[in-house]
Amino acid sequence: MFSRHTRNQTLEAAANNLYDLVVIGGGITGAGILLDARKRGLKVLLVEMQDFSEGTSSRSTKLIHGGIRYLKQGDFSLVKEVGRERSIVRKNARHLVHPVPVLVPIYKGGSMKLWQLKIGMFIFEFLVHIKEQFLSKSYSKSEALKREPTLNPEGLLGAVKYFENRTDDGRLTIEVIKTAVRKGANAVNYVKAEEFLFGKEGQINGVKVKDRLQDRTINISAKAVVNATGPWVDDIRERDDLMSKNKLLLTKGVHLVFKKDKFPINHAVYFDAPGKRMVFAVPSGDITYLGTTDTIYKGNIQNPDVSEDDIEYLISAISKKFPSLSVTKKDIISSWSGLRPLIREEGKSPSEVSRKDELFVSSSGLVSIAGGKLTGYRLMARKAVDVIMKRLTGATGKCITEDQLLVGGEFDSDEAVAKKRSECRELANKIGVSTEESDWLFSKFGSETALLLKNNDVFKSKELPLYLRLALEYCCNYEMNITKEDFLMRRTGLRLFKPDEAKRLESFFDLEFTID
Ligand code: FAD
Repeated sequence: MFSRHTRNQTLEAAANNLYDLVVIGGGITGAGILLDARKRGLKVLLVEMQDFSEGTSSRSTKLIHGGIRYLKQGDFSLVKEVGRERSIVRKNARHLVHPVPVLVPIYKGGSMKLWQLKIGMFIFEFLVHIKEQFLSKSYSKSEALKREPTLNPEGLLGAVKYFENRTDDGRLTIEVIKTAVRKGANAVNYVKAEEFLFGKEGQINGVKVKDRLQDRTINISAKAVVNATGPWVDDIRERDDLMSKNKLLLTKGVHLVFKKDKFPINHAVYFDAPGKRMVFAVPSGDITYLGTTDTIYKGNIQNPDVSEDDIEYLISAISKKFPSLSVTKKDIISSWSGLRPLIREEGKSPSEVSRKDELFVSSSGLVSIAGGKLTGYRLMARKAVDVIMKRLTGATGKCITEDQLLVGGEFDSDEAVAKKRSECRELANKIGVSTEESDWLFSKFGSETALLLKNNDVFKSKELPLYLRLALEYCCNYEMNITKEDFLMRRTGLRLFKPDEAKRLESFFDLEFTID
């Protein structure tokens, strides 16, 4: 039951049920908690005030990182843990998580020395089991330029290539929620937690929520509540305890998108930008995206901006490392801006603040969790659900999400992915969907593409191509797609990565709700 058509039923049932756990926040952290809690047998509901993943979880650099950056801090156990987690996230969602080669060019006077990086990679590969084809390699200057000809040759000393995994963060979040729902959890979007309900001895025993689509208020009873609201964690903690101190530091990260022919690179490139930071340029299909900035943010949390300063900073980073491309701000085709919910550490600059996660339990029993990374979502969920299980049952029970394949990613090997992709092509071609369109669908919906292609084609509009009509129908029926933007931004990424196409399609959508 994860359809826009059954959303009302889910909410009506929520008003009459007692849940073991209500999760506030439908980003990757809340999604992970929903799945973990359900797998441990809890009756659980997630409420999200916008669309699922509309907060930070659709606005990241979209990489499932190994823990290489933690080597600098000498934290080897963290490196090992994050490296292992990277493989688990890929194994469970092969349709969405793809290895990409990353080139790190080393320049005279740059932030990294070639020998440092080589030793770092050696330690990383010793700690984390890496398949032979994904082992790192180092290159001389001329070899590096052969591989990435548009790099600035001046001061270039060489480069190291290693592998990271690229993902679609918004879709990863949706797939985790969908998996939890198919296991019996409930989740609703556009429902805002407004107040807590308190029982005897001041313990939280429910949440008052507002359905933003129908402008009604519902009281939901729960034995436990978790606050997984990312940048809003302090806001929710204040609703529990007015005197609570802020725990978060919000920093803004901006990404810019260019057409591939304007910013043509063969690898993702991780390079020095002004201000002793490093940025990623990541090629993906017809585009290349670049990010990110990292500046303290105090404005509107819901819609962080992309300022002129952000644009200038990133464009100047490109001009320094890829001068021959002459990229200017006129070449930007789209952009996005997200907020990192970092745990405050006095006296440190945004880039120095650790990306670790932390869990807080209030005297009224509210469990709040923030910080961390997309990559570590399963471990964050485990931490939160351990605490909740202990409170509810006296024992943590066992986290069993490690081997849980996500919906769409039900494959045991890359060969199985290729086989299913080709089966989907056959199905697609029979109904007039091209191979290219079928592959695009597969890159979003994985094994579910077969089901999607068998939809009824209810959106008859001739102007909207068949494959998109079918995708829209699937998203409405199986992913609680409510608005046009849910589809264009978070279910398909068209708005960011094919903005011309998204604009062209806009007028054909008949999905609008007034949301206050
Ligand atoms: P969110 O995704 O923000 O989810 C919180 C949700 O709570 C929101 O959807 C919000 O609408 C909802 N909410 C708030 N208040 C309420 C309420 N009252 N009622 C109901 N719902 C509510 N990590 C990586 O692993 N790899 C990367 O490449 C990477 N790159 C990044 C780049 C940038 C620029 C940023 C900002 C982060 C990046 N991260 C990356 C980190 C990662 O994106 C975040 O750690 C993660 O997305 C946070 O998820 P979350 O669920 O905690 O928060």
